[in-house]
Amino acid sequence: MVQILTASEAKKSILKNTFVIDSTEELELKNGLSRVCAKTIIYPIDVPSYTNSAMDGYAINVDNARKRQTSASLWNRAPEKIKIIGKATAGHPYYGDFNEDAAIQIMTGAIVPAGYDTVVINEDVTVSNGNLNIKEFPKKGGNIREAGEDLRKGEVCISKHKTLTAADLGLLASVGISKISVFKKPKVAIFSTGDEIKNPNESLSVGQIYDSNRFSLAGMLQKIGMDIIDLGIIPDNPIMLKKILGNASSSSDALITTGGVSVGERDYMKTVLNEIGKILFWKIKIKPGRPFTFGSIDKSMYFGLPGNPVSSMVTFSQFVMPSLIKLSGAQPQETFFLPAKAAGEIRKIKGRTEYQRGIYEKKENGSYWVKPAEDQGSGILNSMSRANCIIHLTDELSNVKKGESVLIEPFMANKVLN
Ligand code: AMP
Ligand code: MG
Repeated sequence: MVQILTASEAKKSILKNTFVIDSTEELELKNGLSRVCAKTIIYPIDVPSYTNSAMDGYAINVDNARKRQTSASLWNRAPEKIKIIGKATAGHPYYGDFNEDAAIQIMTGAIVPAGYDTVVINEDVTVSNGNLNIKEFPKKGGNIREAGEDLRKGEVCISKHKTLTAADLGLLASVGISKISVFKKPKVAIFSTGDEIKNPNESLSVGQIYDSNRFSLAGMLQKIGMDIIDLGIIPDNPIMLKKILGNASSSSDALITTGGVSVGERDYMKTVLNEIGKILFWKIKIKPGRPFTFGSIDKSMYFGLPGNPVSSMVTFSQFVMPSLIKLSGAQPQETFFLPAKAAGEIRKIKGRTEYQRGIYEKKENGSYWVKPAEDQGSGILNSMSRANCIIHLTDELSNVKKGESVLIEPFMANKVLN
């Protein structure tokens, strides 16, 4: 007997029944952004691979240089000169002889010639007639980056299951890696169901509406890097639904449909799933999105989302996304919550989790305040578009009073660093 699960039970059950994709592919590094690393990558070289200057200045042997300048003042003689005998720039090493009493002009990134242990920066010297006068001595080893100081050959560079960021691509390039092994993108087939649903480029007859779910869904799937198989709109016809689902299950890792999962006369998804697959559960104690079906057809997972546009977006973001992320081979992501104060009373019924669309803002004193978007109807997509967070109201909560703290899940995140 299928019972009604709580939100956290449903999440757990879905994740427990989610496998991890096993097929991998090799990619050019430049195409690797947001892909999931399929093999742990080890540093093939030390970084930096040679000892180099961190600043523009002069490479010296600090003890000798100090002796030459200070002995002169001690004995009241003219200081012994520190001659500048050569130059090293990035990519153009100094190949001349070593002289521990002399200096080499050196630029940032250039190899520090053997025998020199310190770089004194331009700002701390004066130069006259090709000789160096040091006003301020750095400590020994100053302004030098030692070979292997940042990264050591043989250590872990990127772990298997890490989703590659822009920084990771740069890091891999910096150690000479140009090809990477990643998990293949999961194939996710989607379609909308409903006799009344039409494509936005069609004209509407009486009682018909435009399909918004497939567009929101495709947008969310794109954001998490899925390979989308768009199967369009399928009418409320069990024979057709069975055929399409059966075919799609053999060519996809997950199937997502919207609509037809309630208990209406023309809600066929559960019946169809019972015949050609397996249902694990079909209701969650949540609002919006209570009629949510999870199961499988063949080796493909099945998510039956409710038809109401907000319900389908909310249930996707809370229950389907974590599963698809696991499927893709990536590390699970904890939901990012921010505590915020309720700007007014928030109505909530105890015994279910509510995901309300919210609008939060930061006040001058640094605290965050949130109010529910005006219309919380599960068909009102424009309040989802205006919202900037989901207010998470867990099972045990009832009405929240003005000024009480709630947890919000902000929509924004750093768009480039993640
Ligand atoms: P259902 O879950 O099929 O009973 O649908 C619930 C409500 O959502 C009904 O008012 C449907 O017309 C509407 N609906 C279903 N599918 C879509 C869709 N793809 N786009 C927009 N609204 C939809
Ligand atoms: Mg329907």
